[in-house]
Amino acid sequence: MHHRLECPRCGDHHAVSADLGVAWDDIHCETCGEFLETRQALSERVAPSLLIESCLRARQMGIAA
Ligand SMILES: [Zn+2]
Repeated sequence: MHHRLECPRCGDHHAVSADLGVAWDDIHCETCGEFLETRQALSERVAPSLLIESCLRARQMGIAA
C-alpha cells in the first residue's frame, strides 16, 4: 500500500509497505529504498489528531443543538 510520506533522502513521495502488512512492517521509499518508519509509528502519529478532531466536532454539535 502507498503512503503520503516524503523521503528525506531523495524527496520523493512514493512510500510503500506490504499490502497485507502488520503494524511493525516498515514503510520505505519506492524510489531509493530508504527506510522511513513503521506502520505502527505512522498510525500512532495520526491517531491523536483524529481524536481531537472528533472531540471538536462533538462540541460544535453540542453548541448547535
Ligand atoms: Zn527516496
